[in-house]
Amino acid sequence: RAKERGRNHYQLYNHAIGAQVMEYVAIENGIRQALERSEFQVFYQPQINLATGEIDCVEALARWLHPELGWVPPNQFIPAAEEHGLIVRLGEWILRTACSQTRSWQKNGLPHIRVAVNFSVKQFQSPNLCDRIMQILAETDLEPQYLELEITESLVMQDQNTVIKMLRQLQSLGMRVSIDDFGTGYSSLSYLRLLPVSKVKIDASFVRETPQNNEDAAITSAIIAMAHNLNLIAIAEGVERKEQLEFLRSHNCDAVQGYLFSRPVPAHEATLLLQAQFK
Ligand code: C2E
Ligand code: MG
Ligand code: MG
Ligand code: MG
Repeated sequence: RAKERGRNHYQLYNHAIGAQVMEYVAIENGIRQALERSEFQVFYQPQINLATGEIDCVEALARWLHPELGWVPPNQFIPAAEEHGLIVRLGEWILRTACSQTRSWQKNGLPHIRVAVNFSVKQFQSPNLCDRIMQILAETDLEPQYLELEITESLVMQDQNTVIKMLRQLQSLGMRVSIDDFGTGYSSLSYLRLLPVSKVKIDASFVRETPQNNEDAAITSAIIAMAHNLNLIAIAEGVERKEQLEFLRSHNCDAVQGYLFSRPVPAHEATLLLQAQFK
């Protein structure tokens, strides 16, 4: 009987591994196919400069329109793409699409705005990142000053010296770098002064209950003050309500991004927002 149980165990075990392998292969093929079939899209969410009231930058946010599952959010496929070694290819596709769209707004006489593209840790681990970015900028005919790279604190925690060197190189080529989801990592504030970045994005989790929650409001205003003391631009993410905007304005936050102004929208809708601003 023990032997039988052993064999069942073995079969069960084997089956579970088999299912995992199947799922792994399915996800990998899914992402590969999606790239080939152009199922990915880039949406754009405006950032509003509070001094001018105008959109001066849009964040590029990836979307996957899966033929059966419908819209798959980036929090589901970006980690999968990283795990399957596909993030570099996918990331380059997103970057090329965002740069080419931004250049086409310029060519169509719309205001010259920057585009902010999210980069994951894995993309920074490829040694020729700077060259690849420069190549994509050349291909799409976009000047580096219109590209902003959004990175997270976790990236810098990896391998400080290498990352700092890469960020310096990117900045010396004219690109801007911003720290995304600021305040959610476990990095110390002092390291921020070592980083060649120009912008801090206050994470939406602090903005959500600002100003009614005193602690969150204190953190939000402290991040703005700290950013300014370090000569960095402060932008708040996830701004949904007027009270948040008033608080941010009164604390001299430089820019805002959130549903109050616009959700992330497809390129043609972003075009309309830019046209409206131009008139
Ligand atoms: P993130 O870079 O912090 O992007 C901001 C997220 O907040 C976006 O979610 C955006 O849709 C959402 N958001 C913006 N305003 C509001 C608001 O007022 N209220 C609320 N509740 N949410 C708001 P999304 O598009 O689902 O993206 C989630 C995350 O996935 C991004 O966070 C980013 O980390 C990652 N991601 C998205 N696109 C890419 C990409 O092209 N490459 C990489 N590596 N990561 C990406
Ligand atoms: Mg971002
Ligand atoms: Mg963020
Ligand atoms: Mg986020």
